[in-house]
Amino acid sequence: MICKDELKKITIAIDGPAASGKSTTAKLVAHKLGYLHIDTGAMYRAITLKALDEKIDLSDKNKIVRLARTSTIRLEVENCTTKVFLEGIEVTKRIRTQLVSRSVSTVSSYEGVREVMVQEQQKMAASGGVVLEGRDIGTVVLPKAELKIFMVASVEERARRRKGELTLVGIEANQDDLIKEIEMRDQKDSTRAVSPLRKAPDAIELDTSHLTIEEQVDFILERAKEIIREKGKS
Ligand code: C5P
Repeated sequence: MICKDELKKITIAIDGPAASGKSTTAKLVAHKLGYLHIDTGAMYRAITLKALDEKIDLSDKNKIVRLARTSTIRLEVENCTTKVFLEGIEVTKRIRTQLVSRSVSTVSSYEGVREVMVQEQQKMAASGGVVLEGRDIGTVVLPKAELKIFMVASVEERARRRKGELTLVGIEANQDDLIKEIEMRDQKDSTRAVSPLRKAPDAIELDTSHLTIEEQVDFILERAKEIIREKGKS
């Protein structure tokens, strides 16, 4: 038997460039709706960390793809925060270092790596009631998501926010270095051959440069609730 509430659970895709506020927003939207938040960037970061730890040459595509196929990444959501585990060991903080940030776009550009990740993400999203955030959610992972948001913000604002987030986890970073790293990552993520960062044609673009987190969350929640209400009628 399928209960009526389950029928109303939708899938929400939030995409956008680096540090555009996706994580914080997705986390809060999921929390308010009682949905599961899936940070897909954390999965690419975890594989990158493993490759760095094992001193694998990042340009060795075959080795990296093999690593992705044989690794176990687990995301655990607890009290509105996502914990990331690699082979059972928590790496939540280690995946946020600048070395990982600078290296992740190379790892995520490999088709074989993306195949593994996308399959996992689709499995996690299969029962609905999820908010997935990343670069290719609305275009590749969940092309049928009921609500798609594409978040953008100026690079200066994004660097400022990223600096704040890093400070909170005890990582010091220079604003100009962050601008450079964000621009480089956006360039790599948008120009790669496989699943580049792109706004899905049916996604709503949300410029968050001058919005508070609360305003961003409310904007998405309102749209989500409209869709859920409509679904409930049919
Ligand atoms: O979201 P976050 O900035 O943590 O993502 C880290 C990197 O992971 C991105 O710069 C991108 O290279 C990759 N990524 C991706 N596809 C996704 C999510 C992240 O290629 N769906």
